[in-house]
Amino acid sequence: MEDRQDQSSISSGVVSSAYHCEDSDISTVSLVKCQDYESSNSEAAIEKALGLIGGIGSYVKSGDRVLLKINLLTGDVPEKAVTTHPAIVRAVIHQVKAAGGIPKVGDCSGYEGASNSKRYFAACRSAGIMQVCEEEKVEILHLSAQSIEAKNPGGRIFKSFVLSKHVLQADVLISLPKLKTHGLTLFTGGVKNIFGCVTGLNKAKMHLRAQDPETFSQMLVDLLGLVRPELTVMDAVVGMEGNGPSNGTPRQIKAILASKDPVALDAVACTIVGIDPFMVPSTRLAHEQGLGDISRINVMGENPVDMEIKDFQLPAGTASFFRARGLMRILHSMLVAKPVLVKERCKKCWICMEHCPSAAISEKGAYPSFDHKKCIRCYCCQELCPGNAIELKTPFLGRFVK
Ligand code: SF4
Ligand code: SF4
Repeated sequence: MEDRQDQSSISSGVVSSAYHCEDSDISTVSLVKCQDYESSNSEAAIEKALGLIGGIGSYVKSGDRVLLKINLLTGDVPEKAVTTHPAIVRAVIHQVKAAGGIPKVGDCSGYEGASNSKRYFAACRSAGIMQVCEEEKVEILHLSAQSIEAKNPGGRIFKSFVLSKHVLQADVLISLPKLKTHGLTLFTGGVKNIFGCVTGLNKAKMHLRAQDPETFSQMLVDLLGLVRPELTVMDAVVGMEGNGPSNGTPRQIKAILASKDPVALDAVACTIVGIDPFMVPSTRLAHEQGLGDISRINVMGENPVDMEIKDFQLPAGTASFFRARGLMRILHSMLVAKPVLVKERCKKCWICMEHCPSAAISEKGAYPSFDHKKCIRCYCCQELCPGNAIELKTPFLGRFVK
């Protein structure tokens, strides 16, 4: 490992004083500045971020089949900051190749369903991922195309998952999340990105079983016990604030983070954007259940305090404020933001209806119609809508309480 530069420790979401420790049990997260996606900057930042945690050779050996799990969602153009930026994907491909690995790129975004490869590959093209893979001669995998049920006896609640075969067949899984807000879970990063290993509409079924933020986050933690990436590299050069993960506002953060511990990585990322990591249920639950220790983290490279963004905007939805399940269920419809249609932007593609896990969306007249009594506020419809035609509106009482 390279010489340490700035080092910090994080406790309860607060970056404390400089810290030196040789304890190998402590998670190390590298934090590197990256001005923009210009290739020389992104390549240098990725190389530095990986160098600070031992270099790519610590994770990838010659001949390894390496799956780069991107965040694709609906395949928005890179400027919208919804997807992992193609420049970051390219830089990681270069690193994997340099280590002698065989990179492949893929996602199960949920947007495409199990069988709709055409829609998936169109999303890869609009997000700029297809061009990168063509130029780098790297195969793009449609992860939803082949599923396998994987038993998860160690899971607290979720004892099995329907996963992509490609994920299980890879020698090395590298997760490439984007730093974004999320209406249901407050924040989406390294832990949430692995949800994309669950294939197609099986994700909607998981949403139906895990309707509130706490249960949904426990599902993510159970999944993390089954699918743990060898390496997570976060694109936080331009992240998303406000109504993420797809309708928010791009926000320059100018950072790349890397770690073998996605829980610790999320904790550092949250600290930069002013979110207490313990407020993010998946981070807190993973910490409590021993899938990551965020009480002591070595941060290599930049000091998170120096990169902090004080006015980072959180989602309009209030779901994350009501993690107590009982209260959540009673007050749900009165307090928590509900999806509403903006007709002018609706393309009538019906993806929202296709993916709604509680059948709360129906075809009435020419446009989708929402039954808010059935709606479990998972926000899949907002996340997957290609026209940004679904907004989250918090009821009066919810605004008052907030
Ligand atoms: S609201 Fe969005 S996802 Fe639903 S039909 Fe309209 S454009 Fe498609
Ligand atoms: S209407 Fe939207 S937010 Fe409500 S359950 Fe369906 S997909 Fe989820």
